[in-house]
Amino acid sequence: MPDFRLYNSLSREIEPFAPADGHTVKLYACGPTVYNPAHLGNYRTFLFEDLLRRVLRMRGWAVEQVMNLTDVDDKIIKRATERGQTIRQVTDPVIGIFHDDREFLRIQRAEHYPRATDFIAQMIALVRRLEEKGVAYKAEDGSVYFAIDKFPGYGKLSRLDTREIKSGARVAQDDYAKENAQDFALWKSAKPEDEACEAAWDSPWGRGRPGWHLECSAMAMAILGETIDLHAGGIDLQFPHHEDEIAQSEAATGKPFSRFWCHGEFLLTDGAKMAKRVGNVSTVADLRANGVSAAALRHFMFSTHYRKQLNLSGEALEGSVEAVRRVGDFAERLERERAGTPGLAEAAETLLVEVANAFGDDLNAPRAMGALFEFITAANRELDVRGKDAEALARAREAFRQVNAVFDIVPDRVVEDATLAAWVEQQLAERAAARQRRDFATADSVRKALEEKGIAIEDSPTGTRWKKVH
Ligand code: AMP
Ligand code: ZN
Repeated sequence: MPDFRLYNSLSREIEPFAPADGHTVKLYACGPTVYNPAHLGNYRTFLFEDLLRRVLRMRGWAVEQVMNLTDVDDKIIKRATERGQTIRQVTDPVIGIFHDDREFLRIQRAEHYPRATDFIAQMIALVRRLEEKGVAYKAEDGSVYFAIDKFPGYGKLSRLDTREIKSGARVAQDDYAKENAQDFALWKSAKPEDEACEAAWDSPWGRGRPGWHLECSAMAMAILGETIDLHAGGIDLQFPHHEDEIAQSEAATGKPFSRFWCHGEFLLTDGAKMAKRVGNVSTVADLRANGVSAAALRHFMFSTHYRKQLNLSGEALEGSVEAVRRVGDFAERLERERAGTPGLAEAAETLLVEVANAFGDDLNAPRAMGALFEFITAANRELDVRGKDAEALARAREAFRQVNAVFDIVPDRVVEDATLAAWVEQQLAERAAARQRRDFATADSVRKALEEKGIAIEDSPTGTRWKKVH
């Protein structure tokens, strides 16, 4: 296999990547803030991480992935206060929707989905460690802050100029601009509205709650260890979120926090970042209402490199619907055919080499997608010849399976049909066995079960044929 190379935001270079232990990639991806269902912009990032995860596995590594669920923050508290609910009452249903949407989009399940509110003890312990190192201090407002001028590495990810690092000035809210690089809140003292919605905990500094950045540092280190292989997220998280995660983790441990940092670019609508506050969001529910399949959305997202901006439009989605139809027709044909030609085996070989090269070159999914469609054209041409090489067909099926294991873009109809076909074949085998032993009652009940699913069967001297009648 060729090298596997990834762009590392920390060095601003494409570097060879492999997990530190040579076996399991410790991957942390910043998850959703669960006050509202995630939108397709969020899902562009989560799909980029799904692609990354699947490519790492295709390379033969295991992946241990954490995606946190931010279930306490400024926005959640605001929502709970408006509704007179607790933060749990706001976040529980949104987490349910997140997993439904994730499954619909065929995003593989991560190994861990920690909720921030389940890791308060680890967060408090981390702030204590930072106090001991002399980089955290309690301010007059009762909150605990990180002193950025005490940590020499501050700004290395987002390349802050030392002149931009203001000592002593403080910022309490979670999100702020780069021009305002200031001491940021690790632990925020509780206000009455925090208490009212159950977003306050006991701590050595009095009642309070964690800052957003602290949540990720504590959960990543508690689950994956003090140095992880790869940390991913959307480009907007680079500053301040990831810069602050690095500061908190490295100031506490003295070790590198993550070896690689990977950031995905934005999804836009009409040229503007898709964002709740801009009001231009669409959701998975909208997608489903418009009959756009997960396969089509995945094709759309993976046809642009993850470090380039991507504009969502109806036209582009239609193109993807058409493209995955072609993939589905081809998948069906591969199942139907009985043999191929030596040329088919060659095309399969080329596909695997080109896809490995493309993914190994900073996850170049559009190039890999191009290779897949070239393969489909070449394979269709070879299959038209009606060759006799069963081994060649098996290779084509295997190559297609491997590439689709990453993209996962065969549309539902075909997936459902394949599942149905497997079930029908199994029923027919049972029926044949029953008839063999002259157990006609069982044979009849199998026929009835098939009819109930809209399957008509026809016995002939060469065996039983079946077809779907509705
Ligand atoms: P949030 O729930 O806002 O914390 O965001 C969850 C993830 O979605 C983060 O990794 C963000 O960087 C990412 N994200 C937010 N908006 C977009 C967008 N328009 N395009 C791509 N990723 C986004
Ligand atoms: Zn995070």
